[in-house]
Amino acid sequence: MRSRSQIGRAPSSPSSSAPGLHHEVATTDMNHPTSRDFDIAIVGAGPAGLAAGLYAGRNRMRTALLEARAPGGQLLNTELIEDYPGQKSILGGDLAAIMLGQTLHFGAELITSPVKRITVDDSGMKHIETGEGEVRAAAVILTAGGNPRKLDVPGEVEFAGRGVSYCAVCDGAFFKGADLAVVGGGDAAVEEGLFLTRYARRVTIIHRRNGFRAQSILVEEARRHPQVSFILNTVVEAIAGGEKVSGVKLRHVNTGETSTLPVGGVFVFVGFVPNTGLVDAHLEHDSAGYYVTDPHTMMTNVPGIFAAGDVRSQLTRQITTAVGDATTATMAAMRWVEDTKRRVDVGTAEQAQLVA
Ligand SMILES: Cc1cc2nc3c(=O)[nH]c(=O)nc-3n(C[C@H](O)[C@H](O)[C@H](O)COP(=O)(O)OP(=O)(O)OC[C@H]3O[C@@H](n4cnc5c(N)ncnc54)[C@H](O)[C@@H]3O)c2cc1C
Repeated sequence: MRSRSQIGRAPSSPSSSAPGLHHEVATTDMNHPTSRDFDIAIVGAGPAGLAAGLYAGRNRMRTALLEARAPGGQLLNTELIEDYPGQKSILGGDLAAIMLGQTLHFGAELITSPVKRITVDDSGMKHIETGEGEVRAAAVILTAGGNPRKLDVPGEVEFAGRGVSYCAVCDGAFFKGADLAVVGGGDAAVEEGLFLTRYARRVTIIHRRNGFRAQSILVEEARRHPQVSFILNTVVEAIAGGEKVSGVKLRHVNTGETSTLPVGGVFVFVGFVPNTGLVDAHLEHDSAGYYVTDPHTMMTNVPGIFAAGDVRSQLTRQITTAVGDATTATMAAMRWVEDTKRRVDVGTAEQAQLVA
């Protein structure tokens, strides 16, 4: 991976000011950028951020790709991926490396530093506070993703990718004919539990309460399903196994009685926490905290701030949807930047006429 100092600047956009000026003039004027000024700043270098960086860099926008950790996002927590078009089967880490190489090839500047805060000034310029100082950009694309909520029990981390999963669509096909445990009581748990019956021999939904938060229509469907059973008022205390998961240790919350359920996999659906809250202005979000965006542009309610991937309120969260969102967001952000520059140019010309 190349660091910020090694890779230098992204190419200037065709409409930016004369070469050389941007290193000398300390201003946030869009047409006289400094080395910390960009057309587009992308927050997070998971699949969405990497795709956004690719499109923005390849279209010769001055592009900053800000990432707190190693680029790749959730790809780095994923073993095999079999549902990314063009790759029959690929390790998450390998796909991340390919995406990163392509993105950097087209000139996006990777800045490895956590974004702490984003503010918007009166001119609409976005000020992004990072661990390495401030970066400014005309448009920001938020691609900071999120994390599945964990059970925090022994075995969960050890068996991640070896029987513990947080995504039925992603990993269900790896469990053909297996007995599976699904943990959770919301829509996701019941819906994904039903989905897993396509592959599994038996799915046991384990829930700590007696009633479900999931819609009753889903719960009824699960109750009627011959491959689904329920264990209620029960928590998972540990996940056990050798090479792979072989069972879950359970405890009844009322009686304290413990038992072991033999399973070949555990799917955890106890929530997902989106990485939001970086922007000072109020960004519209849904009841679960995901950003609400315009479906045609991925723009949030704050002009010039876009969102793509897992941070966005949408039906499903996949690598394909993340890169798709990012493509739309970047095309829209580029148009936004160019329109803003035109407005600035017109304003400057009018000012000059007044002075003359
Ligand atoms: C275990 C697991 C397995 C999966 N398997 C598959 C699969 O097989 N197929 C599939 O299609 N999908 C799969 N998914 C879902 C897929 O990985 C996600 O939908 C996808 O990664 C979302 O991409 P993203 O770029 O929106 O977010 P992320 O991948 O979450 O990337 C966000 C990035 O933003 C960075 N970031 C966060 N906050 C900040 C900050 N303040 N400053 C700077 N950077 C920040 C993070 O470090 C991270 O790199 C899986 C998910 C998980 C958890």
